[in-house]
Amino acid sequence: MRQADLFGDTPVRRPRRVMMHATDTGQPPYSMPHWRTDKGGHFECQRCGHVHGWQFNMTESEIWRGLPCPTCNKGANQ
Ligand SMILES: [Zn+2]
Repeated sequence: MRQADLFGDTPVRRPRRVMMHATDTGQPPYSMPHWRTDKGGHFECQRCGHVHGWQFNMTESEIWRGLPCPTCNKGANQ
């Protein structure tokens, strides 16, 4: 694959990150007053197998987008 031009044609520069994806979604067993949502997901990395566990206070789109994997993204720009 060719390396992209430094002044490339891509308008948005996006850091390449490995995302963990939700293997399950649900509601938290408790809630905090400052939380925005009562939704969350159980996140796992499909690449390295890292299990993050449940993360709550997330919007639906955040759940679908996933969370950056702390193991796969080690050393990368966060
Ligand atoms: Zn990973």
